[in-house]
Amino acid sequence: MRLLLVEDNQRLAETTKKGLEKESFTVDWFDTLSDAAAALETVSYDAVVLDLGLPDGDGLELLSNLRKKGSSTPVLILTARDGIDERVRGLDGGADDYLLKPFALEELIARIRALLRRPGGALGLLLIAGNVSFDTTAREVLVDDKPISVSRREMGVLEQLMRRNGRVVPKDVLEDKLYGFGEEVTSNSVEVHISRLRKRLLKAKASITVHTLRGVGYLLSEDT
Ligand code: CA
Repeated sequence: MRLLLVEDNQRLAETTKKGLEKESFTVDWFDTLSDAAAALETVSYDAVVLDLGLPDGDGLELLSNLRKKGSSTPVLILTARDGIDERVRGLDGGADDYLLKPFALEELIARIRALLRRPGGALGLLLIAGNVSFDTTAREVLVDDKPISVSRREMGVLEQLMRRNGRVVPKDVLEDKLYGFGEEVTSNSVEVHISRLRKRLLKAKASITVHTLRGVGYLLSEDT
């Protein structure tokens, strides 16, 4: 899951980013409207966490542009202003939720998860393929109901593959979901995670196989 965090308070942004990453989200952080808008042009985010008072304008502008373009990406507004007007304007402008500053990180995470679990949201509760189940809320992978250990990025790979079970997942889509801006992606990073994941699945006797379609991407299938 890749999130866009737009917040100009550096300290708050850094703690929030760190906290979200610990929960296995990939986070891109920007402190201006213009940088955030540029990022939204190139990346399809699963959700946006948006501060309203930004150095180059009001976060609500970004929200309104996003909705004008027909995007339904969930947006959670962060605001220090407790005036009811701001909240109403935000929700009227197409925000899905809001949180008043100061907030507890746990609450932000819970709210984001709730947004992602909405119908059409990026987070389905439980993904199942063959004898493998993936609890996307607890971030736990089970084979025959027994938990197996999987690294954060391998989990990200598996999640995308399971969401598109039986359909091709292009390599660049995986890279996009797994790495934020400024994170180094070597050309074989995804292959490395796929290969480790395959070993783990094999060892746990999972009844699913990850296929490589050279030059195209990856495909998950259930063994028969
Ligand atoms: Ca601000």
